[in-house]
Amino acid sequence: MKSLINKCIPYIPVFLKRFFLKENLYFGISLKITGKCNLNCIYCSACDNSTDIDCINIIEFLRIMKNKGLFYVILSGGEPFFYSERDILIDYLKENNFYTVINTNGILINNLDYRDFLLKADEVVVSIDGDNVINDKSRGKGSFQKIIKTLGFLKNNKIKTVISTVVWKENCNEKTLEFFRKLKNKFKVTLDFEIISSELVPEHNKKNCIPETQDIGLFSETLSYYKKKFKWNEISDISIKNLKECRPIICKSFNYVLYMNNDGKLYPCVDKIGKKDFYLGDINTFRGAGKRSIYCNGCKCNSLLNFNTILSGKLDLNSLIRWVK
Ligand code: SF4
Ligand code: SF4
Repeated sequence: MKSLINKCIPYIPVFLKRFFLKENLYFGISLKITGKCNLNCIYCSACDNSTDIDCINIIEFLRIMKNKGLFYVILSGGEPFFYSERDILIDYLKENNFYTVINTNGILINNLDYRDFLLKADEVVVSIDGDNVINDKSRGKGSFQKIIKTLGFLKNNKIKTVISTVVWKENCNEKTLEFFRKLKNKFKVTLDFEIISSELVPEHNKKNCIPETQDIGLFSETLSYYKKKFKWNEISDISIKNLKECRPIICKSFNYVLYMNNDGKLYPCVDKIGKKDFYLGDINTFRGAGKRSIYCNGCKCNSLLNFNTILSGKLDLNSLIRWVK
């Protein structure tokens, strides 16, 4: 496993060339390689059994984008382990020196093939929403214990691990932060909290999932306190502020970072899948979005929010810590 900075260094000449030629520089992509998943989280609408795009098409696209600076690839889903050609894809990524992140639900740890898959990543993002009771309520009975086992496995194998927590109605409180304080101490993980996006919650579960505004406000203030007290530097002030004041924003991040749906269509992020105004093209034909920006009514993705903030000229060094740690 190499660090993000080590993986990035060979690309510096490409970055510089594209910068001076004023050409789009695409350094990152999140690939939803499958909609299949073995969980049925209360707030999820990302799963489906649709046919996944062929690996050969993805690899051809990555090959072209590598010349435009692409080196950072997230494999997501669904559960990426269920992509039938996952091994071909991840072996290609490793052989070609991409920084590879697997975004997983973490519950297949008893499967040896799953362990081998995780061992090929430079970084693993694991979803967990709180303690045994809270996590199993949102993500499914018995999931907590397996996720904890996965965290132990990743720690023992020295793989950089990020915890991705969806803040929803029942974990939007200090108890959750206290739980993650202990978890962080034990497993030495990086933390990331994102308020559930109403655009992603199935209609029939919105009422049960979307937290009350005052609870979000309180959560945001408590998170700010924890960040200062326990030095959670990976969480930027901008993302904390955005939890309670999710304001309209001009999105420019898709000139650098893309999101691919499992039908091969490209968008700026998972929130905008299927939205006409945000459709950027298809991996079989896409060669660049052109320099432009799109009005967005609010961003729920911390990394892209941080990046958009930097692109708007407000440099917050804290927002980079999550990547270089
Ligand atoms: S693990 Fe992820 S993809 Fe699967 S149901 Fe839960 S949120 Fe959806
Ligand atoms: S949600 Fe964020 S990344 Fe997605 S379009 Fe809006 S600003 Fe861009």
